[in-house]
Amino acid sequence: MKIICIGRNYAKHAKEMNAEVPSEPIFFIKPDTALLKENNFYYPEFTNDLHYEVELVLKVCKHGKHISKEHATNYYDQIGLGIDFTARDVQKIHKEKGLPWEKAKAFDNSAVLSQQFIDKANFGPEIEFSLLKNDEIVQEGNTQDLLFDFDELIAHISKYITLKQGDLIYTGTPEGVGPVDIGDVLVGKIEDREMFKLNIK
Ligand code: ZN
Repeated sequence: MKIICIGRNYAKHAKEMNAEVPSEPIFFIKPDTALLKENNFYYPEFTNDLHYEVELVLKVCKHGKHISKEHATNYYDQIGLGIDFTARDVQKIHKEKGLPWEKAKAFDNSAVLSQQFIDKANFGPEIEFSLLKNDEIVQEGNTQDLLFDFDELIAHISKYITLKQGDLIYTGTPEGVGPVDIGDVLVGKIEDREMFKLNIK
């Protein structure tokens, strides 16, 4: 199983990062050891600026390579919610030097994932999602604002990388990313449904 994450897929988030809006999808990989399998997250010792990024997550249901946009919808069947935890201070240094981002993005437990997934058939043309920090809304997203929609992402990724059943695609974060501290509680929602509740320890 692999985890593919999309960077800068919401224009307002690209703006808050002072980054260009991309002309094609940007992606990077987290290893399977990045997946967090409990409700407690332990603040890593190598960062002082850990940021949440709430993201809708697609579960790949079919093996495929060079998938066309028209057929892409057949390759994912369920949608969950996750956090792409990012050591922003580490990322900044690596960005400045033009180095890869793995130390900032692919570390153990950096991929929070809801236990529950929702069948994609349950959704209309747009999906709303949000993240609350200590009961306050900090991020709100809507798939209407995606720069590259789910089908475009699948078509693009599969030009380069074979998708396998069980792979996860983190589809990018909307604006409002920010730091967490020990003691914070993060709650992720898709529409009104609570998908995860995470304690920062
Ligand atoms: Zn992200």
